[in-house]
Amino acid sequence: KYAIGIDIGGTKTAIGIVDSLGTVCAKTSLPTDLSIDPHHMVSRMADAAKQMLAEQKLNEAHLAGIGVGAPGPLNTKTGHIVKPPNMTAWHNFPLIDSLKRHFASPITFENDATAAALAEKWQGAAQDTEHFIFITISTGIGAGIFSHGKLITGSTGNAGDVGHLVIDPSAGDCVCGQQGCWEFIASGTAIAKRASRLLGRDVTSKEVFKLAEEGHTDMRKLVDQVYRYIGIGCVTLINTFDPEKLVIGGGVSQVGEPLFKAVQNYVQNCALNPSGQSTPIVPAALNQDAGLIGAAALIHMKY
Ligand code: ADP
Ligand code: ZN
Repeated sequence: KYAIGIDIGGTKTAIGIVDSLGTVCAKTSLPTDLSIDPHHMVSRMADAAKQMLAEQKLNEAHLAGIGVGAPGPLNTKTGHIVKPPNMTAWHNFPLIDSLKRHFASPITFENDATAAALAEKWQGAAQDTEHFIFITISTGIGAGIFSHGKLITGSTGNAGDVGHLVIDPSAGDCVCGQQGCWEFIASGTAIAKRASRLLGRDVTSKEVFKLAEEGHTDMRKLVDQVYRYIGIGCVTLINTFDPEKLVIGGGVSQVGEPLFKAVQNYVQNCALNPSGQSTPIVPAALNQDAGLIGAAALIHMKY
């Protein structure tokens, strides 16, 4: 049997047919058009999925189900997208009811970081462990928690929203109402914003890391501070969940070895217990198709 994975993002939606071994048999992507009625956008997704099935000479009878990953806050109990900051037109949208108008197959729904964690367990960097946390550092920061061999979803699918762990309350106001949240100071968005202010011109987070590498003093300081912030969040997660491994993905993790070394070093010095201090911190293995493999994993995996 096959699963359809649908990964809904604020800019694009990835849709794929994934078999029970995790092979992506076909995939497509469409822009998430936030200017049209979300029901209409869901019709487009359904059309794209059905067309893909037909091209593979498949139909709904071949499906074990449809897995959907979407940005939080959401409510997996009621099937609503609740209030992702970058998708205001979709606030309180009944996503699962809307999809059910197009499909008879079972539909499973989780937040995107939680689904990506399951993908890393199924096909990626966490296959060998029953206790790990997947952290994505990208436009925002999010996590998926896997503990005792189970995905920790929370009561409404919002567990793992670690982007709003408070790291430094003196750092300024986050959109959530708290101060100095993890994603407010260490996401790709935050890095670019803080560097642009220091430099008096617009820079991307990728450029910031390059300038630091080349010896730019202010950028070096900023990057070292960001590594420390990432380390602080990781220590909190290690002290809370006692995982065997942390898996880090998302755009900012593309910085690679310098970031992983710095975070590992911070964890070595600051995690409370000796086993926590040596927690392996590894790159995600599935950056490319993590979203849709994770969505399909919601159907193929027991969690
Ligand atoms: P999304 O948040 O839509 O999932 P990404 O995971 O690609 O997208 O993350 C985008 C963020 O990561 C942006 O802030 C971008 O500037 C940053 N980013 C992407 N590539 C790199 C890189 N090589 N080095 C540092 N930052 C990066
Ligand atoms: Zn916040």
